Amino acid sequence: MSRWLEVGTDNYVLTTENSKLNTGLIIGTERAMVIDTGCGPRQGREILDAVRQKTQLPLVVVNTHAHYDHFFGNAVFAEDGATEFWAHENCAEEISDNGDAQRPAVTDLEPEMAAGEGANVELVVPNALVRDQPVLVDLGGQSATMIYLGRGHTDGDLLVGTSTTLYAGDLVEQGAHPSFEDSYPVEWADALRHLSALRHRYEFLIPGHGEPCSDRFVKTMADTMSTAVRQARQSIRDTPSDATKAIPVLPYGPEQSRWFIKRLQETRPQH
Ligand SMILES: [Zn+2]
Repeated sequence: MSRWLEVGTDNYVLTTENSKLNTGLIIGTERAMVIDTGCGPRQGREILDAVRQKTQLPLVVVNTHAHYDHFFGNAVFAEDGATEFWAHENCAEEISDNGDAQRPAVTDLEPEMAAGEGANVELVVPNALVRDQPVLVDLGGQSATMIYLGRGHTDGDLLVGTSTTLYAGDLVEQGAHPSFEDSYPVEWADALRHLSALRHRYEFLIPGHGEPCSDRFVKTMADTMSTAVRQARQSIRDTPSDATKAIPVLPYGPEQSRWFIKRLQETRPQH
């Protein structure tokens, strides 16, 4: 079952069952902004129905990054009349180039989406792009600012900030280990420190999954990640022939630790 939580005046978060996805809703006087749309037409419809209980205003959509649970529901919102879909340029490119490759991930949850057959199963690629500079969207009486803090959970993570609330997408994950599959571990820790430095501007911090987070939570997540980078590098130096030796010493589950090491070896900071 889905559940609304009020996080600041006219700022809300909806948690839907599948993987406890948090969808943001910011309601202005002229438009409302929906942040992340679910993993297919079924969850997208559930989110849209819940949004329509709160507001009848035209909707603007933001996808925080190019993982299926955050954008596979876009077509439901396009059908409802949304024409403006925001994302970081790297996110939009990934959805356009490789979005279809994620369909098998929802075989159980959204079989029509997985098969690409049925209503609202087409990919809607974001058409309003954020690059390195923040972009402000006026919703009437309330504005939302989209911010890019560099590479982290993916190479195209957007945050959305209002006067009270920061929606962080999967850069911050509560209640589960972070997901490293498409990540840049060293830069992710930097992005979290940057986020933590902005934290005083916001009363509420909403992760991509799980419960609202404290500043301490973000700092701990950053410190844990930096420590893990050092531990993994040390372990790889000690046993260069078998990087998996680092898995047991890392502070994450075995599968995420495996991804962490793989991505640490594959990625190098740009600067
Ligand atoms: Zn993600």
